[in-house]
Amino acid sequence: MPIVSYKSATVHKYVLICAIHTIPEPGTLELADAIFSMIPNGCAGIYTYADDKHQSSTYFTEPLFNRIVGSYTTVISVHGHQSNRDPVLIGGRDRSAVIAIRKLLGLTGQRIPTYLSGRNPANICNRGTSGQGLQLEIADFALSNKHLVSWIAENVANIYRAAHACMPAVSTPIS
Ligand SMILES: [Zn+2]
Repeated sequence: MPIVSYKSATVHKYVLICAIHTIPEPGTLELADAIFSMIPNGCAGIYTYADDKHQSSTYFTEPLFNRIVGSYTTVISVHGHQSNRDPVLIGGRDRSAVIAIRKLLGLTGQRIPTYLSGRNPANICNRGTSGQGLQLEIADFALSNKHLVSWIAENVANIYRAAHACMPAVSTPIS
């Protein structure tokens, strides 16, 4: 039986941080959790899924996920991959987040790989209401490096912390 866990945002359902391959991709749970802990939890939720099967991001259909993802503006999806060539691949349809994070991580001079681009609209990272999310594909060797993981998490969280949607909700006065 797969293990599903979800912690909801409490004020604004702004960003849902997901790790859906926590068993075949060790270290992804820790990275997702680190990002979650660095964004005010009023606007970030975290969803994790552990299963031996490797359901792809495009065809991922889990009832709880299907139910909650449309209540968030955007999604950050965390994965592990096995290439030694590209330690960190930043993808997804949220172009401004992709550019900003590539810049913070010092990846701007590098070619943008076409594989694992996360650009398919059906990819879980693009299933928030904006239709634009972020996909982080981190190489196994990088995921096992604690310092690297917290550095990546901090830079990613910085971009989302800065977003206006992360401001606390203002209650509307009753007239
Ligand atoms: Zn994955």
